[in-house]
Amino acid sequence: MDTLLTSFKNHLADLVNVFRIADLFDIAIIAILTYVILAWFKKTTSRFVLIGIIIFGLIYTVARFFNMYLTEYVLQGFFAILLIAMVIIFQEDLRRFFERLAMWSVFKKEKSVVSSHPHVDILVNAVSSLAQKRQGALIVLKGDEYLDRHIEGGTELDGKVSQSLLESIFDPHSTGHDGAVVIEDGHVVKFGCHLPLSSNVQKIRNLGLRHTAALGLTERSDALCIVVSEEKGTITISREEALKKLSTPGQLRNVLEDFYREKTSDWEKKSWFQRITHNPLEKAIAILLACGLWFAFAYQTESIRRDFVVPIIYRNLPNYWVIEEPRFKEATATLAGSEQAFGLLNPENLKIVLDMSNVEEGKQDILLGANLLKHPSNLTLVGIRPNKIQLVAHNMIPIEVPIKVETSGTISPDLIVRNIEANPKAIKVMALPKDEKRLTILTEPIDLRSIITTSTLTPKVVLPPNVRLLDDKPPEVRVTIEIERKQQEKKR
Ligand code: ATP
Ligand code: MG
Repeated sequence: MDTLLTSFKNHLADLVNVFRIADLFDIAIIAILTYVILAWFKKTTSRFVLIGIIIFGLIYTVARFFNMYLTEYVLQGFFAILLIAMVIIFQEDLRRFFERLAMWSVFKKEKSVVSSHPHVDILVNAVSSLAQKRQGALIVLKGDEYLDRHIEGGTELDGKVSQSLLESIFDPHSTGHDGAVVIEDGHVVKFGCHLPLSSNVQKIRNLGLRHTAALGLTERSDALCIVVSEEKGTITISREEALKKLSTPGQLRNVLEDFYREKTSDWEKKSWFQRITHNPLEKAIAILLACGLWFAFAYQTESIRRDFVVPIIYRNLPNYWVIEEPRFKEATATLAGSEQAFGLLNPENLKIVLDMSNVEEGKQDILLGANLLKHPSNLTLVGIRPNKIQLVAHNMIPIEVPIKVETSGTISPDLIVRNIEANPKAIKVMALPKDEKRLTILTEPIDLRSIITTSTLTPKVVLPPNVRLLDDKPPEVRVTIEIERKQQEKKR
């Protein structure tokens, strides 16, 4: 028990020692991102699209992990298209998200301190009276979000909310009774407005246009709509994605007070508390997930070192340059980091890439600096051994090299080879200056056993090391072998 406690204490001390402010932000950012996605996931109507994307993401991760190149490649291309598709599919959600973000940071402090309670009473009285008289009405209470882009038409007005104003607007004999009234900060700012209709088939099945319009607007914004039915004299409120029929005007008062409570400043503190306890499950999952990910991938208690033999790759060597063999083909890189970081490393991806585009003639030293080895950022490069390599590079020059015809086997005993001649006798190739005098180019061996008369052949040529064809075009070499029959008759 004692040892368990001390080991726990040690772990805790380790954690306290290595935990940085940056780690806190690291966890916080991932937690917030996860939460936003989860909260969005909960609300959004395009949930299935999101599930589809997550499935693709998982397949991609698996493909990457097991190096399934084809799947990885195709999905990568697909993601670019998907990104555009996502922007289109979630256009409305993204717009709302950024609008809110902007409102939050810019107007937070300026938000007016409205005592809304007086006009809650006015609204309750007006709505009950309209309901009693069975006069259809649609009242929009603006939330934090802009409504302009959702609302069409209507007449502007700047009148303090009063029962008589509302009753006269919704009086069926008035010209402006059709459509919706928008109330902002205790003032009627517009009437006779056209609201967007909801397209949620399940919810609007047996609703008329007035109710559908109320639902449509609240699906798209954080406004609250109050609907008075002309046919039934009922009061319905619409908030977010749901309609709720009220049975008493008292209920309307509660709903309106709750709605304004979130907006008035003396409730600010409480609304912070409400904000913190809002969506508790999603928040808990987000925080746990972020902490878990941090422990799995970022938490480093002790740093270990490992050596890797890394191939050296020579890139961009200009045409007709050669690097003399033997040349350095690998070096040893020492990396340091946590066990987890090494667990995520694929050593096959480690390589030292040398850019040879500025190569010079002769011997030269090349420093194997840390910048030449790409490695994950959660590992540090301790060093590369050797830290310097030497190589010898040469530029090739055009050289005339004689062609020598290579033969194999022996000719049949009753024949003699008079002459073997290659045409052309020499070809121009690119080769190293030091090889100029001693180079010959051999043809592929011609089998003499198959030659019975004088013939002309076109064998391929065999290039010695460090020799390259001009323009990479294989030369056409014609070899003529002159054959003569032995004059056996004479001997006899
Ligand atoms: P009620 O219960 O009052 O009959 P309802 O939901 O059945 O309401 P309709 O009978 O179709 O709806 O009511 C039509 C009225 O709704 C129109 O006269 C108009 O005032 C209003 N209305 C219809 N479409 C919209 C809209 N897009 N935006 C605002 N108001 C609308
Ligand atoms: Mg109707």
